Amino acid sequence: MPTSHELFLEASKIIPGGVNSPVRACRSVGCEPLFIASAKGSKVTTVEGKEYIDFVESWGPMLLGHCHPEVSSALHTAVDLGTSYGAPCPNEVVLAKLILEAMPNMEMVRMVNSGTEATMSALRLARACTKRNKLIKFEGCYHGHADAFLASAGSGVATLSIPGTPGVPDVVVADTLLAAYNDLDAVKAHFEKNPKDIAAIIVEPMAGNMGLVKPAKGFLEGLRELCTKYGALLIFDEVITGFRLDFGGAQKRYNVKPDLTTLGKIIGGGLPVGAYAGKREYMSQIAPSGNVYQAGTLSGNPLAMAAGIATLNVLKKSDYNALESRVKRFCEELTAAFKANGITAFINSEASMFTIFFEGIEPQNFSDVKKASTEIYSKFYQHMRNEGILLAPSAFEVAMVSFAHSEADFEKTLQAASRFKI
Ligand SMILES: *Cc1c(COP(=O)(O)O)cnc(C)c1O
Repeated sequence: MPTSHELFLEASKIIPGGVNSPVRACRSVGCEPLFIASAKGSKVTTVEGKEYIDFVESWGPMLLGHCHPEVSSALHTAVDLGTSYGAPCPNEVVLAKLILEAMPNMEMVRMVNSGTEATMSALRLARACTKRNKLIKFEGCYHGHADAFLASAGSGVATLSIPGTPGVPDVVVADTLLAAYNDLDAVKAHFEKNPKDIAAIIVEPMAGNMGLVKPAKGFLEGLRELCTKYGALLIFDEVITGFRLDFGGAQKRYNVKPDLTTLGKIIGGGLPVGAYAGKREYMSQIAPSGNVYQAGTLSGNPLAMAAGIATLNVLKKSDYNALESRVKRFCEELTAAFKANGITAFINSEASMFTIFFEGIEPQNFSDVKKASTEIYSKFYQHMRNEGILLAPSAFEVAMVSFAHSEADFEKTLQAASRFKI
């Protein structure tokens, strides 16, 4: 088999940047990407046959680890029943029920094919329901690559330092109002200036796309109150947090009720999927029960439904608290290992996610995030990769831990980190 380097050279001639999603290129950490031949549990194996402990987890979907036996077996069964019908299949009903049971504030759900599709459809719906156009989003939050959201859109864009967003007409982002994460006053000011024009606030209820930034106490509650007061819809983008922060997502963990929720990643168990959910009064306005048009040739795809159902059924029985305590302890051990080598780092962690901010502070927003050293992160990334450990190839991302990560994996990762010197 050709090596990663050879494949990357080939790919670069025929695929823009050699990759099908920008951050995979590893440019910001000064490396070439590794081409993966297979994955199992907590590990991925490259085309060279080298095995790595994986903290990328396909950017979030693989909370059970790769090739979980129940997910694989559900997929094998599904393949033999046909891969797409263009007509409803029973598992669409099963997955819808599983999602709505986990998020009792949501009453109806529509399946789509990616997180991007989910957020862009949710925004269309919010605009239709409120008959308003403006949207508030937070700096550093990422909601997929639809035009309206490509203003200060977190890691992918930040990592590559793309100035603005060529190809997006000014008029499209003109309705996107920005605020700093955790800054309720800024949100309030937008509403006071545009009391009857704001359709929705979209927020990552725990930000994961600028590195891990937690919602400050009262922030999400404050957004809820402002939306209610001004008649705007609150959209929780739970594409990362759904089924990861808790089985019921951030809305369960933080006990705040959004009007609409967008999902993706985990609910497809590693297959391309997205969904948006919400109150019946809003969701029933989607075609064909209402006039808000949204469709998809492969939406509710039988393979994606099978993988999603199997994943959620295993997660339902999984011990989220145990994983969270293990990750917390690991982060403390990691901080101590850095300290022993004279390296200062603030590690922010929540549930099964963490971000290392070298020489950084506990971040409240995107400008705090940017105080951390990307240079040290790049060196650390390269060091760990040499040691057989794959972290996110960007300082502005979260490390994802799965239920498949073992004591030995944590120990090996810690030992490798303790050999890092600057
Ligand atoms: C990954 C992500 C998206 C986009 O999902 P895709 O499936 O990549 O289109 C949207 N919102 C958030 C919070 C995400 O992390």
